[in-house]
Order: sequence, then structure tokens, then C-alpha cells
Amino acid sequence: MAELRNAFNPRAPHFYKDPSWSAGDAFCSERRVERISQGLQSETDVTRVLAFFVGEFGDNLARIFLNLAGVDQPGTDFESWVGSEWLSAAGVRIPGRQRSPDIIVTAREEIRNVLLIIEVKGNAWVNGGWGYCPVHGGLQGYSNQIICYAGNCWSTADLAVVPRLIIGPDSHKSLFGGWGRKGIVKEDIARYGLSEAFEAQRSAIEKWQFAGLRTLEARIKDLSPSDARRDALYVLSPWLDRIGV
Ligand SMILES: [Zn+2]
Repeated sequence: MAELRNAFNPRAPHFYKDPSWSAGDAFCSERRVERISQGLQSETDVTRVLAFFVGEFGDNLARIFLNLAGVDQPGTDFESWVGSEWLSAAGVRIPGRQRSPDIIVTAREEIRNVLLIIEVKGNAWVNGGWGYCPVHGGLQGYSNQIICYAGNCWSTADLAVVPRLIIGPDSHKSLFGGWGRKGIVKEDIARYGLSEAFEAQRSAIEKWQFAGLRTLEARIKDLSPSDARRDALYVLSPWLDRIGV
């Protein structure tokens, strides 16, 4: 009897399919499917899957994201995008700059109508460093995701008033606006001379709403059962267990 493997099927109808793809194409590579099926999914695997749901579940999940960010948006017709793919699809990528937040929520078929910008952080550190950004950092040259994704250095689109949501461990709720001690901490001011960057991060943090990863999971569990909900939890829950949040 054939072994039951790859219970996760990226060609299922509740996942986005691009009209230009050939029959066997999917949003998710075989290697990614393999990792997910073995319970070894990475943060990127999880965010990618969450951004690719369509149909009723895709709408509901986007609605959950908006609710978690406190965005009061009428209607139910939303799309989620992987950030980097949204940049290309919307034609707003800055040549030579590769960074982008994990997920972008837009009104359906109004790709330029961005409703929410999301970064998902499990236990990973905030990416950043000296020379991280040609726009932010000033004389000291330091920037990171907290600062840059709150600002508009990663796209030619005007995203100044779009809400930002960091989804991280629930225990981080009161730590650095939900980013945890993963960006610049006070000690870094003296240790690395990051006073300007610390101040930039402090004001950037005010632009971020926070939601807990387990809160997101609970909200997905509250939705009525479907194959799509099963897949979302199949990818999300073992990852949360494994990283211990
Ligand atoms: Zn920047």
C-alpha cells in the first residue's frame, strides 16, 4: 500500500493559481511541500502559505489580519500577497532593492489599494545592520526591518498611511511594540553607538500594531471547518509548537 505522504497539496483549489502557470505548477515548491509534510516548515514557508489562500477562507483570513490590526474595512473581498511578489505584480519595486515585508493585504483586484502591511516573526531576529538601507540610517548607517518597513524605502508606492502589523509570540506583547528584544535594545546605544537608530526604531515602533501568533491561530480555529482551514492549521500549528511560542 502506498505510504500516505504529502498530505499538504499546494494545488488544492483553495490556493491561488496564476493563469499563466502550466498545469503542474503551484505556489509552493516540492521542497517546501516536503518540509511542511515533515513538520519542518520555516517561517517563510508559513507566511507564504498564509498569503496564498483564495476563496472564502482567503477572504476570512485577510479579514482576521485586518481585525488583528484594528483596521475597520467594510466588505469581505480581500487578497493577501507575499510582499516581494506584490512589489512585482503592482510594478512598485525599486530596482536593486530586494527587501519587503512578508504579507500585503489589498482589496481584491485592486492591487494598488493596500490595506495592511504584515511582518511575521517567530523566534527569528529582526534583520538589520550597518548599511542595511540606503534611505534610512543616516550618518550612523544602521537600519532594520522595524524602521524600514514602517517607512517607505522598499517600494515606489505611497504607503505612508497604511497600517503595519507585526505578528509575533504572544509573550512579546509588551516588549518593544511586539517585536520582542530582537531589534536594537537600550544597551546597544552604548555598546554600538546606536543612539540615532534607537530613536528611529522607537518612533517606527509606534507605527506598528501587534498581534500574537497563538491569537492568530485561535482566530483561524474559530472559522468554520474547511479543507483550507485544515491546511492553514496544518502549516501554522506545528511550527508554533516547534519554535515554542
Ligand atoms: Zn529603509
